[in-house]
Amino acid sequence: VSDSQRIQVAIEAPAHSSLSDLLDYSSEQAVPLGSLVRVPLGKRVVLGLVWGDASFDAGDDSPPSDVAIKPITEALTALPPLSGSWRALLDFCAAYYQRSTGEVAVSVLPPELRKLDQAGLAQRVAKWLRAEDKRVAHESALTPVVLPELHAEQETALAQWALLQSELKNAATDSTTVLLHGVTGSGKTEVYLRMAADVLQNGQQALVLVPEINLTPQLEDRFEARFAQYKIVSLHSGLTPVQRLKNWVLAHLGQADLVLGTRLAVFASLPRLGLIVVDEEHDPSYKQQDGARYSARDLAVYRGHLEQIPVVLGSATPSLETWQRSQEGRYRCFHLPSRIGQAVLPKVRLVNMAQQPKVKNQAVSVPLLHALQQRLAWGDQSLVFLNRRGYAPVLHCTDCGWKSACAHCSAWRVFHKLDRTLRCHHCGSTDRVPRACPDCGNLDIAPMGRGTEQLEEQLSALLPGARIARIDADSVRGKGALQTQLGAVHAGEIDILVGTQMVTKGHDFRRMSLVAAINPDTSLFSSDFRAPERLFALLQQAAGRAGRDAEHAERSEMWVQTWNPQHALYRALHQHDFAAFAGAQLQERQSAALPPFAYLALLRADARSAEAARAFLQAATALAQTQDLAQTYSVTLCAPVPLPVARVANAERMQLLIESRSRKALQAFLARWLPLLHEVRSQQSRLKQPILRWAIDVDPLAI
Ligand SMILES: [Zn+2]
Ligand SMILES: [Zn+2]
Repeated sequence: VSDSQRIQVAIEAPAHSSLSDLLDYSSEQAVPLGSLVRVPLGKRVVLGLVWGDASFDAGDDSPPSDVAIKPITEALTALPPLSGSWRALLDFCAAYYQRSTGEVAVSVLPPELRKLDQAGLAQRVAKWLRAEDKRVAHESALTPVVLPELHAEQETALAQWALLQSELKNAATDSTTVLLHGVTGSGKTEVYLRMAADVLQNGQQALVLVPEINLTPQLEDRFEARFAQYKIVSLHSGLTPVQRLKNWVLAHLGQADLVLGTRLAVFASLPRLGLIVVDEEHDPSYKQQDGARYSARDLAVYRGHLEQIPVVLGSATPSLETWQRSQEGRYRCFHLPSRIGQAVLPKVRLVNMAQQPKVKNQAVSVPLLHALQQRLAWGDQSLVFLNRRGYAPVLHCTDCGWKSACAHCSAWRVFHKLDRTLRCHHCGSTDRVPRACPDCGNLDIAPMGRGTEQLEEQLSALLPGARIARIDADSVRGKGALQTQLGAVHAGEIDILVGTQMVTKGHDFRRMSLVAAINPDTSLFSSDFRAPERLFALLQQAAGRAGRDAEHAERSEMWVQTWNPQHALYRALHQHDFAAFAGAQLQERQSAALPPFAYLALLRADARSAEAARAFLQAATALAQTQDLAQTYSVTLCAPVPLPVARVANAERMQLLIESRSRKALQAFLARWLPLLHEVRSQQSRLKQPILRWAIDVDPLAI
């Protein structure tokens, strides 16, 4: 290839495909690193990113000269190249989560970009920029925003923030991560807003990550209202493909000042980035559950370090990983320990169910019922939640013992009374409720246990005249249904809101003075070591829904119906003592060598039979042992075990846990071991029962 430049292009090829994710092409025109290009691949033309200069290593491993290097189709010069730090973030993400660079880098770009050629893209970009010019001209005269007064704790946090900013500016520190630990209602959002205002005034961009954009329209509104003179865009999967591309382009061009988004927004290209906020940093939805199983929270921390900009992790109940790092002094910690104004945290009441008279099949205990009646008399609102949707988790035959099992999963099908269906919440298979027992013909088939539908029905019967609404994944199927229902609660048209944990996230209900958890005990004895951490966060967050208004704060209560009122978790909740809870949990984790004191990865395999899945995992273990990899890197491989729900949609699911005391050692081990597994897979594909798929999950959330 003479005269033309030889470049390496990252394309979307998964690590296990026979195709390399970095391919060599030639280009007549100079294309800088990070440029978007379209390249021929077989009979297709695909989107790629210029990832390297291939002319540098035109030595021994370059292809023989008779292999023609294909020229690129065209460079998408309508957009500037992705920056070096953006590419470094993607390189890190691919290496850490054990995927190929090309696969990750191209998959995080807006999908619509794949459909456009240079001419089409240039046309769109020009149109969007013209619209931006008009907007700026139109909004030149804005009324100034009146800022709320800060309380002393917010002032302290912002003084610490100013100090961090100046230290970073003078390169006096390389510690960029901050935990903003503030109870619900302590004014975290106002602190985010002031921090964002600082960086926007400096001409920088801010990135604000939220767990779920549909549940946080209030946050979006607050940013819009405060920063009317700036361009705010959102990035999440609820946008149309064109909207998503447009918002991504505006951020990449530096036209958007603030990006508000869900986990995928951590990959937004922001040339002037000055701040990343991760709100509710403990929320499990920051972890991607398929493909590259990245944690957006962890990548945000890495990105902040890379670009030497502050990253603020906000939570009332931080993840134990984050909490431990702040305790060790690796993260700074800003505290907001009290609620704004006169508001106090709700009083926590534990109802000992062992001492309650048993009322047949009634979910709500007598004292809780009285508390609900009291709220109705006061004209206050209540929230009652139960972590199980549907009417009953299983139907059964009182004669022969038949149960409504799913034919495709090792799970029961849930009885939904409203549309008389049996639905599997794992694979989605749905059928009409049978008239009689399918095994013996008995007409008396009855629900066992209860879900939110039944709770709603019981409350309606017990509290005639009360206006009751239910919010769960079933009730909010239609577009906008959730907003409509929440609107009714805010407007005071609802007295009692029944729901799953969905209702405990982020909403700000002004008139609520009672929040009740019906039966949260199951998480206390789960085999998943993170279950108590999640339960504490859930209950604390739910409690935070009550008493947001000073007027209702005095009589605000959080009720927990439990068979284990003496449990340490409930005692800590009763005291609103996150530090005590976290301290006890961390001690347990340390003695059991669990995160954050150890590092984990999960190897998962799905197959038509448990034996086939197990055989793959055993072959993988044998490779680690015979090649001395496990010893070399001192990692421990546990025996393969089935997942808690072993079979889903006719696939048997097994997993193998890999543990190490060192993150580096675990990474080094995985980098050597996983390529060997691709070979095992291809050998096994000749067997009668090959596995369906396998995946590695680094830093898994649930084990
Ligand atoms: Zn029967
Ligand atoms: Zn199923």
